[in-house]
Amino acid sequence: MLKFVNLGSGSKGNASIVFNENNMILIDAGLSAAQIRKRMASLGLDIDNVEAVLITHEHGDHVNGCKRLFERQQKLQFYINPISYRALPQAFPEPRHFEARVNFFNAGDTFRVGSLQVQCVPTLHDSQSSTGFVVKNEKVSLGYMTDLGAVTEDNFLALKDVEFLLMEANYDHDMLWNGPYPAFLKARVHGNYGHLSNNNSGEFIHLLSRLGRLRRVMLGHLSEKNNLPEKARATVENRLEASLELEVASQYEPSAIIEVE
Ligand SMILES: [Zn+2]
Ligand SMILES: [Zn+2]
Repeated sequence: MLKFVNLGSGSKGNASIVFNENNMILIDAGLSAAQIRKRMASLGLDIDNVEAVLITHEHGDHVNGCKRLFERQQKLQFYINPISYRALPQAFPEPRHFEARVNFFNAGDTFRVGSLQVQCVPTLHDSQSSTGFVVKNEKVSLGYMTDLGAVTEDNFLALKDVEFLLMEANYDHDMLWNGPYPAFLKARVHGNYGHLSNNNSGEFIHLLSRLGRLRRVMLGHLSEKNNLPEKARATVENRLEASLELEVASQYEPSAIIEVE
């Protein structure tokens, strides 16, 4: 069975675990290595079972724990776009181990981590490169889409068959425009290469739930200044026709373990 847990989501750090009976993947390592270990342990999960780390992009809230994980977890394989790798805020140590443990993927690539198949989905964001992921286990799949300013048709096609999706719902439109951010930052967040609003997130989830196989969604990467969990949930729920299980990821504590069927 394919399972998912978010360990924390937001601008202070992102990390999620995807696993089945045989293999375990970490998506993003933006929390510290110690927090990743601790939050996994609170759910009965052992960090030593993680085989691979998939990195969406080089922003600190997605990679701040990478260097420590690389040093401490000697068997971990890292998967990253080479353009994001070159832009990492902290280079990985020990270049002699580099080739053995850092794997490059390009936009649209598919690769396997044991029994799990990973598809790389290019996203629009103001990093050097940015990727969402679809992870498939036999017949079921899940999507991980965060840090994107807009959703493309290709994103839709890639995610059409996922049963579960972690989807960014970063900001409430009115809270952003009436909030404390300086004008340039408001424009950045709002732009097509920034973050996704509750409205746009809801629109995409609505479309997927009507035309695809989506049954369950976790909203993620909520802004602490420009959003509220109740607002994100209500805005997305308003757009949905069919009943769809919806939850909101927290920055500070892990979600329950979700079973994707
Ligand atoms: Zn981010
Ligand atoms: Zn980012």
